[in-house]
Amino acid sequence: MRKEISENRSFRWKNWKTVLRMGAYLRPHAWGYAIGVVIISISGVLTLMVTRLWGQLGGVGTASSMKDGVAGAAPDASLDFLPFDLNSLTEIGWLILIVLGIQAALSFTRVVLFAKMTEDMMLAMRKDAFEAIISMPMGFFDTRRVGDLNSRVSADVTSIQDVFTTTLSELLRQLIIIVGGILALLYFSVTLTLLMLATLPVMIIAAILFGRFIRKLSKRTQDQVAESNTIVQETLTGITSVKSFANEAWELMRYVGSIRDIRSLAMKGAIWRGAFGSFIILFIFGAITLVIFKGAELMTTGGLASEHFFTFLLMTGLVAGSIGGIAAQFSALQRGLGAIESLMEMMDEPREVVETNEANAQKPVNLKGDVTFKDVYFHYPNREDVAVLNGITLRVAPGERVALVGASGAGKSTIASLLLRFHDPVSGDVSIDGTPLKDFPLSSLRKRMAFVPQEVILFGGDIRTNIAYGRFDATQAEIEAAARKANAFEFIQSFPEGFDTLVGERGVQLSGGQRQRIAIARAILRDPDLLILDEATSALDASSEKEVQLALDTLMKGRSSLIIAHRLSTIKSADKIAVLSNGSIVEIGQHEELLAQKGAYQKLVKNQEVG
Ligand code: ADP
Repeated sequence: MRKEISENRSFRWKNWKTVLRMGAYLRPHAWGYAIGVVIISISGVLTLMVTRLWGQLGGVGTASSMKDGVAGAAPDASLDFLPFDLNSLTEIGWLILIVLGIQAALSFTRVVLFAKMTEDMMLAMRKDAFEAIISMPMGFFDTRRVGDLNSRVSADVTSIQDVFTTTLSELLRQLIIIVGGILALLYFSVTLTLLMLATLPVMIIAAILFGRFIRKLSKRTQDQVAESNTIVQETLTGITSVKSFANEAWELMRYVGSIRDIRSLAMKGAIWRGAFGSFIILFIFGAITLVIFKGAELMTTGGLASEHFFTFLLMTGLVAGSIGGIAAQFSALQRGLGAIESLMEMMDEPREVVETNEANAQKPVNLKGDVTFKDVYFHYPNREDVAVLNGITLRVAPGERVALVGASGAGKSTIASLLLRFHDPVSGDVSIDGTPLKDFPLSSLRKRMAFVPQEVILFGGDIRTNIAYGRFDATQAEIEAAARKANAFEFIQSFPEGFDTLVGERGVQLSGGQRQRIAIARAILRDPDLLILDEATSALDASSEKEVQLALDTLMKGRSSLIIAHRLSTIKSADKIAVLSNGSIVEIGQHEELLAQKGAYQKLVKNQEVG
């Protein structure tokens, strides 16, 4: 199987304004960044200074002869302010050591400072991103794959983190070195600097572009390798089919076709890599040689002091390195800006008005549980052409049990999700106790409902926490009582760790029936005014089936319940059965009545689509 790797999106400059939104995260650290900029500037200048001092070391031996007045060599006063004798090797050595010591301290401070600020920012950003995601309406999740969303956001956050921990400070440092370095070089020798600038940067940029092209080629080779592996894997997985159809030759042909492509791509890559090596030797080293040659020539003719010549060489290396490095920083910056853009876009998506903290706590509501659907039409936002509900009118009176039955795809779950207000009707009204759903505060409304899904997914953690998910402030006694009512107490007690038993990936695997009873306990603990139940279609063994049924009966007692029903026993016990077909209610009534009508319901029962 080919694994899809989501490429980082690159930044679109016309959307530069989204980047300003980072301001909110940066503002608390404005001082920290200001101090950071000062530290980086100082350490950039110190780097140049060390290079200059290294050059001075190289020039000491010849300095005295120069002092005697070699024609044309300009005496350098730039370091005169230092209280050191710059003709003494030992003193220069000490000076370099002092500067390096200062730089070491500055570098440490910078790294820790930037990490502290960025980690604070990331904390705020991760929180906001997660809050945004969980506040999205269900429609948002219908159109996205959860795994993609998760990896997308964490990749974005990492790219942004890179920008603020290293990219920006590196960019600044390299800019200072490039500009400062070139100015210093110009001071040493204008001719040599111009010669250097005309050759090296051009070559370096060409080398970078060349390198990128080669990387792209090798990526294509890797993709091709992955594709040929897929062929092998498919063939071996389906080996029975291959053999039974005697298609070995065909598979071999397919594979050979793919590996031939690998070879020709790899050869193309090798030729370009070879060319790249030659390019470096000839042009980059050539350019360096040219500069050194010219410098040496200037030195012999007296146009350049020897310590300046040494400094020139070292500093050219430094500047060239920075020019090379800056390209990588730019692509990291580009990636980071793209990440900011996509994260901010996500945060701008319309959200549901849900409670996420005390600041936006919603006023609690209490419901009698009188549900009415009035002439409800609905289609999903991502598939506007498919009408899902066509004028549903239905009432669940307080305390009543209403079963929805119908073929798969008839619209039963959709009715349940409209009641949970995962979506709003396209037209018509869903109301509770006479108030349209959209007039209730959303979180408060959902807090008065409990939804027991068909396939119960427990959260990693212990059984207690999983039941307490219904109401986090419940006491142990309340949790136990709920477990008893849900017929779950006994099996929970049978585990050595009881309610502390871990479930999920790292804990015990519970059976389907056990998971359902945990979910029922959760719903009982919540003590909702309205119950929405999606009955499991997968068959349980007879004894768990009975346990679950008893638990459900306890749960439903005295509560308005809307049940997506599959089992005849549940359906028979309902006060009302609504038979759904293609998004319309075609029959409504009780079991016996509906059977007597000899219509859609009777057909469902006869075909064992329920029961
Ligand atoms: P049932 O619960 O009766 O099996 P559903 O309510 O799940 O039926 O589905 C009704 C129709 O709506 C089906 O045609 C289904 O394909 C479509 N549908 C369900 N969920 C979505 C969704 N999230 N996005 C688009 N279409 C959907």
